[in-house]
This record gives sequence, C-alpha cells and structure tokens, in this order.
Amino acid sequence: GSQATSNSDIIDYRKQHLGKSLSLQYKVPIKMVRGAGQYLMDQYGRKYLDTVNNVAHVGHEHPEVVRVGQEQMALINTNSRYLHENINELAKELLETLPPELSVLHFVNSGSEANELAIRMVKAVTGERDVIASEVGYHGNSNMCIDISSYKFDGKGGKGAPEHTHIFPLPDAFRGKYRGKNIDGHYAEEVKVQIDKIHAKGRGVGGFIIEPIISCGGQIELPEGFLAKAYQYVREADGLCISDEVQVGCGRMGSTFWGFQLHGVVPDIVTIGKPLGNGHPLAAVACTQEIADKFANGMEYFNTFGGNPVSCAIGAEVLRVVKREKLQSHALEVGNYLKKELMALALNFPIIGDVRGQGLFLGIELVNARREPLAAQTDYLANRMKDHGILMSTDGPDHNVLKIKPPMVFSQENAEELVFYLKKIMAEDFMKL
Ligand code: PMP
Repeated sequence: GSQATSNSDIIDYRKQHLGKSLSLQYKVPIKMVRGAGQYLMDQYGRKYLDTVNNVAHVGHEHPEVVRVGQEQMALINTNSRYLHENINELAKELLETLPPELSVLHFVNSGSEANELAIRMVKAVTGERDVIASEVGYHGNSNMCIDISSYKFDGKGGKGAPEHTHIFPLPDAFRGKYRGKNIDGHYAEEVKVQIDKIHAKGRGVGGFIIEPIISCGGQIELPEGFLAKAYQYVREADGLCISDEVQVGCGRMGSTFWGFQLHGVVPDIVTIGKPLGNGHPLAAVACTQEIADKFANGMEYFNTFGGNPVSCAIGAEVLRVVKREKLQSHALEVGNYLKKELMALALNFPIIGDVRGQGLFLGIELVNARREPLAAQTDYLANRMKDHGILMSTDGPDHNVLKIKPPMVFSQENAEELVFYLKKIMAEDFMKL
C-alpha cells in the first residue's frame, strides 16, 4: 500500500516470513530510501556517506546508468538466443579492459553464478574436480561455491572442507602463518603442498581460485610475487587459474583495471560481478578461446536472464562511465591520499596495527600490543562512525578489520571527512570494551 510502514513492522514481518539466516546491518537497523553518488538517505532524510558499497560502483543511481536501463526496459527484454547489439557492446567494452588471451565471455546474473560456471569449466576442461583455495576465501552462495569457501565451511554452521577442496593458509603478511617481507615463496610452497596432497590421493589438480585482495579475509593483499609462483605450480600440475574479481574489479584497484594485473599474471578464467551492473544483477566469466572451446562439449550452457538486453545496456554504460569520468585514476589518487592519511593516523593510535589495500579498496586492522585482534573495538568504531553519518563495514576471520570500499566517486573531501571522524572517535575511551 501507499502507507509508510514503521521500521518495527518491517522487522517483525521479515522475522516471520523471510529467510531466517538473513541478518540486518546495525543494532538499530536503517531504512534507506534514496541513493545518489556516494551518499544514501534514510527515511528521516538523514544523509550517510557510504564507504561500504562497492556494488554501486559509479555511484548510487547514476543518472546515465538508470536512463539506459529504463529506456531498454521499455523497448525489449528477452533472452540471449535472439540477436541484440547490447550483448556485443558489453562484450566489446569488457574485452577492451582484458588481456588479449581472455577473449571469450559468458554473461550471468551474480558473482556466485560466475564462480559456479568457472568451476564447471574447470571440471569440463581438466576432467578433474579438485580445487585449491585460500583460507577465509569467499566465492559465493551456491553449493559448489560454498564448497570452495573456507569463510563459510570453516565458520558457524559449516562442516569443514569437503574432500575435493584443498585450503592453504591465508597469505596474510601481518598476522598470518608467515609474516613480514619476502614471504611470497613460503605461501606459494603452501599451495604446492596442496597440489602434492591431491597427487598423493591419485588425483589431478582441477583449479586454483583466489581474489587478488582477499576481501572477507580482511582486505588481505597477496604478497608480491606470490600469485606468479602459485600460478606456475598450478599450471605445472595442469590446473587452471581463476581470478575472482567480483569485489576488486572494474578499476577499483586504481593502478590497474583488474586485480590480477597488480601481480603481472594472466589467469585462465576471470569472474566479474558486483560492480558490473552498478546494483543491477549482472556478472560475467571471461576465459581463453581454448577453455571456451573445450567447455562447449555439446552440452549447451543456457542462462535465462544472463546477457539480456537490459542488463547489457546497463553493464556497457557502467564501463563507459568508468572511462568517461576517469574513475580508475580517481580511485588511485583518492585511495593513495586516504591510505597515507590512515597511516599517519596509525602513528598516533597504536591500535591501528596495519593499513593496507589498493585504490579504493582499503582495510584498517585493529590489534592490541600483542597483535591480538580487537573485534569489540572495531565494532564500536563502525557503529560510532554511523552516528556521525559514515557507513563502514567490518570483516576478517576475527572481525577486527574496518573495510573501506566506497562507490568510486568517493572524493578527497570525503576522505578528509572520514579521517576527521575516525580520529575523533579513536580518541574516545573504548579500549575496555
Ligand atoms: N566472490 C566474492 C569475492 C564475493 O565477495 C562475492 C559476494 N560477496 C561473491 C563471489 C558472490 O557474489 P554474489 O553475492 O553476487 O553471488
């Protein structure tokens, strides 16, 4: 109906009739009614600066993205078995950003579907089903994706790694198994250990999947050199390398368009999600010609909504906006500025143990003097920042990492505001939580 419903009525209804494992953000949940750029507005007209939403890539409700979606929706929306320019246009825009080896695209509707398809490709091409993945990695909500997501099966409600999943330790230079500098070889050896384990079982390696910065792991930057070495080991074992770019892709890294490019490698399969549709469900899988040919083994891959003209109009416009508004170089500039300011803040507040990340994908890790995680303090900071109108998220296996991954239009002024309030709240008395 047209009558506004109270928040408590909305909550009561959700509790009764919506999936029980769906959680709400914040102790007092917020109802957002408008979005624009890097800002959100709640039902009371309160404005929030959003540092959480890396889906609203070019800004919440970007006018051009909204326009092309509305216009295409009024014309025709069908599946991709009919001819339409939009799917080719989106493909061209994406291919312009990818290395020439990755020349074939499949369009799907979510990051989970993208990774699901990537693993199907691995199985079809290699004939193997054993997958190597990082500790605390997250790759999606489907059966197969959960099976390769240590974040889920090693967490609450999980039952540990399935037989065909092989987890190596989180390559965390700050609090991981190996710390500090020149540890890339050690972590690559851990990947090798998993390869040997698969061989010892008389099986072969299917694939290796990892994010270039491990998001759910707490914005963990892969040690320099690690990815190249790990890819080499996996390829020597005839496995395929998947880069999960669902969170980090489309220019967010600043210095590169894709996360794998930070590491000078070319994956066999790249999965793309969240930012591509700017909030509209759109995702993609890029792969080599050879993989695409082998995957097309006679069994058709059909996806009802994947690659429809409306989604493709939106995706192509998102990529054009990134170019037109120079959002990649903007992410580099503002990200570098913000990271430097946060590092300066860490000098005054020793509970900031580590500041890391690239472009507009940063993390602040809070620890005590023994480098133990400070989860309650991290939660306190996120909630206090909300009181000041700034939305921040927390993550990591110990819930002690503040994450910063805003819409890419996030400005230098926004960065200054963020640092100003962080500094103010850091000075509050909250260590005894
Ligand atoms: N991969 C990564 C790295 C993700 O962060 C997510 C979502 N958080 C997914 C895959 C799954 O994407 P979706 O929720 O769109 O299915």
